[in-house]
Amino acid sequence: MKTSLVLPIYNEQEILQEVLAKYKSELEEIAKETNGTYEIIAVNDGCTDTSVDILMAEAKKNRSLRIINFDDRYGKQAAVTAGMEAATGDVVILADIDLLNPVGVITNLVQEYQNGSNIVYAYREAIGREKMRRRVGGFFIRGASLLFDIDGEYTGKANISLFSRHAADVLVALPNKNKFLRTMDHWVGFEIKKFEFASEYSKTEITQKVRKAQAKKRAEGCPTMRREKSREHTPSKIYGVCALIMTLLFIGTWIALEVFTDGLGVIWALVFIIAIACALLSTGLFFLRALMVKRIGLIYSEEDMLYIIESDVN
Ligand code: UDP
Ligand code: MG
Repeated sequence: MKTSLVLPIYNEQEILQEVLAKYKSELEEIAKETNGTYEIIAVNDGCTDTSVDILMAEAKKNRSLRIINFDDRYGKQAAVTAGMEAATGDVVILADIDLLNPVGVITNLVQEYQNGSNIVYAYREAIGREKMRRRVGGFFIRGASLLFDIDGEYTGKANISLFSRHAADVLVALPNKNKFLRTMDHWVGFEIKKFEFASEYSKTEITQKVRKAQAKKRAEGCPTMRREKSREHTPSKIYGVCALIMTLLFIGTWIALEVFTDGLGVIWALVFIIAIACALLSTGLFFLRALMVKRIGLIYSEEDMLYIIESDVN
């Protein structure tokens, strides 16, 4: 049996190497037990840190690692979709670069597949305030999916999931451009097996680990660190401009009411209030879109995405 592991990657230099090494040894175990092989498909979602260098160095050592490079950031869903399209395994596992998810879970997923499941979802137990955050996040994703006409119904996210070749083929063949796997895998007709697992570390341990890795990187120096213009910086700029416009409008309203004490003042005030409302609304929509790009990959489309599969880097 061949196992494909798809990892979407956006600026994960602090923990990438550690997570990759862990998955590699787990996949080697699975390959041994199932008398098969494995591949890791790392999808570089327009990383601007040293993640790409880490990936390229790993790919030179390990021929089972394949890299898909996006020319820009298209979001996690676009990345996993591209990874799933490229995967050649009998099973396709989607996981994150995340220290909270113990890599051993993929072995449990494979066992469920061997017991006959086509789609398996593994959920990490919520830690601390996460339960509440998940509920609020789900609410916004549902709203945004409706607003931006994303197909499918959102029913919560699995931290690690597995798809049989059959299920992956069906999902890949769907004609939808904006694929949001989190909602679409529910209506392709397979029964979904679900289970929960505990986190490997606590949130505090993770923060400490990341800080340590950052300090190490700083000490070593990052000669290849790229500082390119990226979409993620745009929201704060636009927010600043909106805030400035709103401040000017507020001042305008105040002056209008002070200077024109007759009916004209009220008309001016109304005009300004409407303008403020429009500015607020557009800021809100802008943020919603920014959230969508991060979470869903709204702008993914075949025309505007260019990606290169570098299976033979060495
Ligand atoms: N990720 C990505 N593109 C993005 C944001 C995230 O490829 O624009 C990757 C990220 O590197 C990680 C996974 O998607 O491997 C999940 O990211 P994150 O932990 O930020 O999101 P969440 O776990 O909350 O879904
Ligand atoms: Mg995460």
